[in-house]
Amino acid sequence: MTAEKSREAEEQMARDKEKAFQEFIQAKGLKTTRQRNTIVSVFFGLRGHISVEELLREVKKVNPRIGYATVYRTLHLLVESGLVEERRFGDGLARYEGRSEVEHHDHMICLQCGQIFEFYNPHLEAMQEKLAHDHKFKIYRHRLELYGSCEDFDSCQRRQRKAAD
Ligand SMILES: [Zn+2]
Ligand SMILES: [Zn+2]
Repeated sequence: MTAEKSREAEEQMARDKEKAFQEFIQAKGLKTTRQRNTIVSVFFGLRGHISVEELLREVKKVNPRIGYATVYRTLHLLVESGLVEERRFGDGLARYEGRSEVEHHDHMICLQCGQIFEFYNPHLEAMQEKLAHDHKFKIYRHRLELYGSCEDFDSCQRRQRKAAD
């Protein structure tokens, strides 16, 4: 897939999710609000694992009047709708990830710079299934987090400086 094509596919996915969220809001009997729409559309335009503060910063670029509480409540509605997953890594800070159509993935977290790497390994997944089977256990879901540090020392340092700013 070309970069152009995959960007289009991503934008389409973001629109589908926004639409799914509207349906969820209606089914819940809540009113659609312009502020909430802005937050949702900004969120689905972002990549990765977003904290409330990060989302608030981006949202304020679009509408400076939107406050923390509205962003916080909207994120919780997104989680409730099943479109977004809440994750907490080592630092305990809640981060939000738009559930993608992509295969399930796990995370590696750098304890120095906080960078989060995603990975998916079919052998590892199969190994977990086998382990569970050997223990006469059925897995519904799992979460695998590997903590360590980046091997790329320079990039890691750069990210640490950026985070300290
Ligand atoms: Zn992730
Ligand atoms: Zn690092």
